[in-house]
Amino acid sequence: MRLPWWTLTLHSAPVRRTSSVPAGMSNFVPACSTTDAQSVDQLQDFVSRARRLFVISGAGLSTESGIPDYRSEGVGLYARTDRRPMQHAEFVRSAKSRQRYWARNFVGWPQFSSHQPNSAHKALQQWEESGKLHWLVTQNVDALHSKAGQKRLTELHGCAHRVMCLGCGAISAREELQRRFISLNPDWRAQAGAVAPDGDVFLEDEQVLHFRVPSCDDCGGILKPEVTFFGDSVIKGTVQFVHDRLAESDAVLVVGSSLQVYSGYRFLLAASDRKMPVAILNIGPTRADHLAGLKVSGRCGEVLSVIQPL
Ligand SMILES: [Zn+2]
Repeated sequence: MRLPWWTLTLHSAPVRRTSSVPAGMSNFVPACSTTDAQSVDQLQDFVSRARRLFVISGAGLSTESGIPDYRSEGVGLYARTDRRPMQHAEFVRSAKSRQRYWARNFVGWPQFSSHQPNSAHKALQQWEESGKLHWLVTQNVDALHSKAGQKRLTELHGCAHRVMCLGCGAISAREELQRRFISLNPDWRAQAGAVAPDGDVFLEDEQVLHFRVPSCDDCGGILKPEVTFFGDSVIKGTVQFVHDRLAESDAVLVVGSSLQVYSGYRFLLAASDRKMPVAILNIGPTRADHLAGLKVSGRCGEVLSVIQPL
């Protein structure tokens, strides 16, 4: 699962890698040597053979847009900090946890919501347009695929750009909630202005205490990002929908995911049951390496932008 954005502004500064990274590329991309030409050719061959390609994307796709992941060696959230994501049960149970969560979320939003798709997102959108890509399932909640114009898309873990009411189920735009936060917390906003140039933010307990969190306009229910938190599970209907799209496809390509989380991994198990060809493009090992006929190590943007959807 990719990094929930609410932790983005709160970690310590990213670790500098010793490997060479193209200028302008984010510090959150793990070290990786250039993909060899033979691997690129093999991936091109894999894509060319597929008629209805099913793609699963993960955090590794968004690191090149400046969003860190959890698990990458040296640069992932787990390697850099002791921060761990919000648990679903705690969010539901504790008003204090929600207050802290939303206060951080409020501060991080302007930066997080401004991230833009990179060449990997754009390539996949072009594959869709050319008819190569049958369906794309992403484990990311950053909306970068939809920002790139992807239509044949399932956001498996929801999207941080939407908010849902736990009472009545109403869905609203996260941007709208930001306006409500601002009007409810005019003075607080000034206090939270001390954001370091690298996006790091420290919120004092005292500051969080005074942050006011609105509830649902219609029913007074708890507002939560429409994101699957840790400890929660993906809606059954969504899982079945993705299984159906998989069944219509003839090959599976994993891009930028270690597939450590079962909610994504299960589709690789299903692909294996169906004896579908599987290829993986990722930096570092994945949980599904043993199921893949082809494994390519490389940066998603760099590799996908040279593969033609022929
Ligand atoms: Zn409601």
